[in-house]
Amino acid sequence: MTIEILQTHKLLDTCEKALAERYTVHKLHEQSDKAAWLAESGTRIRAVAGGNVDAALLDKLPKLEIIANFGVGYDTIDTKAAKARNVRVTNTPDVLNDAVAETALALMIGLARKLPHADRYIREGKWEGGNFPFVQELRGKTVGILGLGRIGKEIAARAQAFKMRVVYHGRHRQPTEPHVYYESLEDMARYSDWLVLVAPGGKETEGIVSRAVLEALGPDGYLVNVGRGSLVDEPAMIDLLQSGQLGGAGLDVFADEPRVPQSLRDLDNVVLTPHYASATQTTRDAMGALVVKNLEKHFAGEPLISAVV
Ligand code: NDP
Repeated sequence: MTIEILQTHKLLDTCEKALAERYTVHKLHEQSDKAAWLAESGTRIRAVAGGNVDAALLDKLPKLEIIANFGVGYDTIDTKAAKARNVRVTNTPDVLNDAVAETALALMIGLARKLPHADRYIREGKWEGGNFPFVQELRGKTVGILGLGRIGKEIAARAQAFKMRVVYHGRHRQPTEPHVYYESLEDMARYSDWLVLVAPGGKETEGIVSRAVLEALGPDGYLVNVGRGSLVDEPAMIDLLQSGQLGGAGLDVFADEPRVPQSLRDLDNVVLTPHYASATQTTRDAMGALVVKNLEKHFAGEPLISAVV
């Protein structure tokens, strides 16, 4: 009898194919009456592939053994509830570090060099009327990284290649890192030209980039967020961007995706990307393969590759 697993949202085609070759896959997101389906079939499910798993869903899956999340961030999974029910949770770290770090630098360069504006300037025939106003360079500037983890370190390496100075904030100082550590995020923002966010979402970090932190970054400061929208007080950020008390923002993630406030879209000092930092074929394939590998390891009774619970 094959193992029955539940997919909670659409996954990459290659990942879905690999899962279907190994397991009987049910797709919760395709059920018209999810509650009825769960009541009837939930007891047969031994694994979930994907995120969006809360305590209520866990209650409907009494035989669940493992949740294999697609993504390194697992803030859509109630890990406490999973742990309490003896359910393992895995994520997809490392394989996406380079792609996400590249996106962070792309947003920084996009903002500093006003890439979208410069492109529009030519398309709209404005060049013939005069040269584009001066832009900024990254060289010599200080970048404060919130979350000098796996991805944060890749961003730091790239920022250094651009001759920037790197400082960081997290809950702990990392003694083996050469960069200056700030215990206070607000202090770091005050002494940084750029604030790059690449910490996890969830309750613990919700709103830690507060109005006070953004004010400390100031009118000449730039915010880049490739972490999670929930990290930032978004209304305060928009307010400060509108009044010029914050210089600019490059954002890949938002509070209520995919809905981006019109007030943010109307701003000229922002560069926006649709939560696509890891979205290259190579990286997404590697993430999908890691989801499958973790499930294989689990059902073979072997140690998981990337367990978070
Ligand atoms: P890591 O766990 O390697 O690093 C996370 C860092 O955040 C650590 O340095 C940690 O430092 C810091 N951190 C954690 N909690 C807090 C806290 N409460 N306050 C301050 N700092 C904190 O994660 P990754 O680098 O692999 O990924 C980071 C995040 O990037 C993911 O969780 C995800 O949300 C986001 N991401 C976004 C993507 C996108 O498409 N835009 C793609 C991939 C990831 P310390 O322990 O010292 O606090």
